[in-house]
Amino acid sequence: MAEECNDKKCYRHGNVRVRGERLSGKVVSTKGKNTAIIGRDITKKIAKYQRWAKERSRIAVHNPPCINAAVGDIVLIGETRKLSKTKAWTVMEVVQGTSK
Ligand SMILES: [Zn+2]
Repeated sequence: MAEECNDKKCYRHGNVRVRGERLSGKVVSTKGKNTAIIGRDITKKIAKYQRWAKERSRIAVHNPPCINAAVGDIVLIGETRKLSKTKAWTVMEVVQGTSK
């Protein structure tokens, strides 16, 4: 993947630095341009009821052309500055690809 990348919002080739939290999740949508939606299932314990509750979270992340994660991929994401109205995260690497 030595493609040329001139995306300013790419953390490797642009001017975005990853800082803060790192998470991993599964790509559930790549409909937006250079954007992926990551879905995460979190199991949380609710102390009051002594039960496990499932929580689902969706995070919009930047998907630079040089990474180009596809739906179903497990990716590592990192927190960046705010990249757009809804994005403040970027895909850092594809941990487990499905389409390659
Ligand atoms: Zn890049």
